[in-house]
Amino acid sequence: MSLKRISSVFVAGMLFTIFAAASIQAQNGYARDASQTVDQEYTKKIGEYTTEKFFNSPLTDYLPASPNVPTPQAVLGDVAGAPGKLPYAEEVYRYMRMLEKATPRVKVFSIGTTEEGREMIAVAVASEALMAKLEENKARLAKLADPRTISMNDAEADKLVEQSFPIYYITGTIHSPETGAPTALMELAYRLAVDESPYIKSIRDNMVTLITPVVEVDGRNRMVDVYKWHLAHPNENYPNLIYWGHYVAHDNNRDAMGLSLKLTRNVLNTYVGWKAQVLHDLHESVAYLYDNTVGDGPYNAWLDPILTDEWQMIGWKNVSEMTKFGMPGVFTHGTFDTWSPGYLMFIAATHNGISRLYETFGNAGADTLTRTTSPDEYQRTWYKQNPPLPRAKWSQRNNNNYEQTAILISLDYFNKNQKLFLKNFYLKSKRSVEKPKTEGPAAYVFPGDDPRPGNQAALLRVLQGQACEIHRATAPFTVTMKKRPAPRTTGGNRPNASASPSPSRTPETEQRTFPAGSYIVRMDQPYSRIADALLDYQYWSPRDPQQSVYDDTGWTFGELGNVQVVRVTDVKALDAAMDRVNGEVRSPGGVTGAGTTFLVNANADNNLVSLRYKLRKATFDAAEEPFEVAGKKFNRGSFIIRNALIDEVNKATSELGIQSWAVAQAPTVKTHAVKAARVAIMHTWLSTQDEGWWRLAFDQMGVPFDYISTQDVAKDADLNKKYDVIVFGPGGGSPNAVIQGRPMYGNPLPWKKTELTPNLGGFASTDDMRPGLGWTGLMNLQNFVKNGGVYIGSDESAEFAVSMGFTPGVSIQPRTRLRAIGDVLKTRMVDANSPIAYGYGDTLSVYCFQGPIFNVSNVVGGGGGRRGGGGGQRTTGRGTADDPDVVQGRPPAEVPEPPPTSEIWEAAPILDEQRRNLIGLIPPAQRPRVILRWGNAGELLISGLLDGGDELAQHAAIIDSPLDRGHVVLFSLNPIWRGQTSGSYSLVFNTILNFDNLNAGRKLDDK
Ligand SMILES: [Zn+2]
Repeated sequence: MSLKRISSVFVAGMLFTIFAAASIQAQNGYARDASQTVDQEYTKKIGEYTTEKFFNSPLTDYLPASPNVPTPQAVLGDVAGAPGKLPYAEEVYRYMRMLEKATPRVKVFSIGTTEEGREMIAVAVASEALMAKLEENKARLAKLADPRTISMNDAEADKLVEQSFPIYYITGTIHSPETGAPTALMELAYRLAVDESPYIKSIRDNMVTLITPVVEVDGRNRMVDVYKWHLAHPNENYPNLIYWGHYVAHDNNRDAMGLSLKLTRNVLNTYVGWKAQVLHDLHESVAYLYDNTVGDGPYNAWLDPILTDEWQMIGWKNVSEMTKFGMPGVFTHGTFDTWSPGYLMFIAATHNGISRLYETFGNAGADTLTRTTSPDEYQRTWYKQNPPLPRAKWSQRNNNNYEQTAILISLDYFNKNQKLFLKNFYLKSKRSVEKPKTEGPAAYVFPGDDPRPGNQAALLRVLQGQACEIHRATAPFTVTMKKRPAPRTTGGNRPNASASPSPSRTPETEQRTFPAGSYIVRMDQPYSRIADALLDYQYWSPRDPQQSVYDDTGWTFGELGNVQVVRVTDVKALDAAMDRVNGEVRSPGGVTGAGTTFLVNANADNNLVSLRYKLRKATFDAAEEPFEVAGKKFNRGSFIIRNALIDEVNKATSELGIQSWAVAQAPTVKTHAVKAARVAIMHTWLSTQDEGWWRLAFDQMGVPFDYISTQDVAKDADLNKKYDVIVFGPGGGSPNAVIQGRPMYGNPLPWKKTELTPNLGGFASTDDMRPGLGWTGLMNLQNFVKNGGVYIGSDESAEFAVSMGFTPGVSIQPRTRLRAIGDVLKTRMVDANSPIAYGYGDTLSVYCFQGPIFNVSNVVGGGGGRRGGGGGQRTTGRGTADDPDVVQGRPPAEVPEPPPTSEIWEAAPILDEQRRNLIGLIPPAQRPRVILRWGNAGELLISGLLDGGDELAQHAAIIDSPLDRGHVVLFSLNPIWRGQTSGSYSLVFNTILNFDNLNAGRKLDDK
């Protein structure tokens, strides 16, 4: 009833809106060319599919007609945003190429392929005159982008700004369930090419709009399949989009740091290659249009403030103009913090451009639906004076109207102020080059004697992927540095209270000399900001006004890569003798010496696992102790390779950047065989997002695996026949959900290739996504371990193993205060003899998101022992506080030795009194073995937001928990995350390489 009343108010408001919008359109220069005919049929359908007049604007409530240029109808069979119409990427491309054929104002560029080999494109739209000058314009933009080429000459820059036209790059549908952008961008391309409205003509004549209509092409086509399945089965539940891209889901928009995915690389190369000024990424999740670049604090600390001002200018302009059109639900300030630089749009932010992002309102498909918003969405707030409606019929066309209207307003505003933005582009680039002299640092130095040259080279290649220049010192050089603080205390249970440095006035300095061969990332280069953002440390105060954190808070790449990176503020570093590195940075490889036995040092470089699988037929052994041969020291775990030809070893180690020494005779040291383990990666049908990063890392390192689901495990009673190691990545669901799967209500949910759904299935398929591991599957998995298999679990999948009884001596302590929100935290080595630790040092920085907090015990189910020993306070009695009391009237009794104490990460020793008939006492060889533990409270935080860290401090971080003949290896960290944690990959790979000798170097308790 109340709804009816509201709608009559709407009608009155609507009439006003139409009238007001028409005059405002003229006022703001959005008037259309009266002499250009309108495509009546198309325009009529726009009106038909728009559910309320106020969900459209005078910019998009019509379509101009063209005698020779086809409208999106040519491919869609209907207008853009029509109900039931969701084009595949190839259909979108077909349309864009039809435009290219029909008008010289459109050009389509192929920008690379996806993981599954599908094409990605960028479509340029501009006048014929501009199209003819793309190359000469790019040469001018390149000078503005790198002011060193014009000797930082502002007058010269002003001239270039006058002569140049800018590039505005728009990207759509990186998130596959956010389906509206491709049709909106098809129609936008048409409008920009055809419409004679003075404002659109001016955009076309004065700037290039560059469009990638589908960013996640693999996921788009799967999403269209799912939608088609839904249309074919209208009354059934439809499968949810379990795989967006090949590896990850929404995290494809968290890859702008690590650049692991092809879509990120392709968009980055396009953005940087075109010397674009804006990267504007389109998303759908919020009613009705949220320009979230203005967002909320904390802003990323490495950006030029000029950029954050630009966000405000363009964002509020969108709100202001759409407010005048009477379109509800448009806002720009909001809870999204702009701290992490991992988002795709941030490629522009960290490369001297302008990053932008819209969240519009999508229906995850092309159905028209009645949508109900929540009070926090529809209530008015200071930055949302015309909020979304509590309830409204919503169509894909509405979504397309909002997206296009907002973009057109932005393009118009950007065009009218293009000289300002081009000048800002130059200024931001110039200020990046001036970094060493202004805010600093001068450079980041990667020392030439880093013990992990492979990981070092890998990190430098990420920076090269970011278009950073890398130099290499040709001679040793010395710089002045702030003296490093003395190492903090390492033992004890108390949090380190004196973590803050003593307040000395002038920081003490020291000289530091770097060897020749050290790599230098100079900060006097145009893209210094991205290098600084990745290599620096992050601090998010637990008392920050922003309490709802959007994403990770820390990412320091040197720390997570286990690579030495030194921040140098002394500008003398820039005078060191150095050469620019041409081509990709590679670590030195190949065989030195002569002989038939080859030695490779264990240094936790990720390429070591690649070598094992590359030389599959060779015999590999691992030394269980360090050794020395001909003056060269080898770490515990070093490979001794036999039965391989020197040529093939030389070839493989050269390709992988691994140094190998050929010797005539193997060293005499205890060894065990390192076999090429047969690996399975197990996934659930609930979520595959986080384990996707694991698959990606395995593929990158050339570690072969079978990709199996919990349903496959449920069917296989003899998993040992096929596999040595089963890896269960994190994020697959709660323990109960892993077992139960999805509820069995309703119809089956197929995920497989059919005529209707040609893009589903492939690397993972099932007739029904609903069933989970089940109790049989759980038994199969447990028997696999008991029979000698190795299970690897991290975060949720570690919790799964613990809660399902795979790890008798391990329990998980509930969190009460801990807030470790995507941090870099410090761990310390506990058992360097374990093969899992081969090649690692005393400490390691790792990625952590909220634990879990492990406790270990020598008794099943925990308990036993007493922490802290017997040194408590004495009772009331005779003497001083340190004296024993004396019982009167009898000789003093002999007091036994106080029970031994134990550390937080250790199992408490079992006292004799407890040992009596202790049925749950775990035999020594079956007890959990702690490999790494979390750092002490005062040293735990390396980067990010950490609150209540003492709750996690000192607890076990990695545990090798035997179960009969097999092992369960548990991580309370995520060792493989977003291509950013390569320093901890080898913990997983070491486990795999030494799968049947994980007990090596183990010291057992006496009893
Ligand atoms: Zn999104």
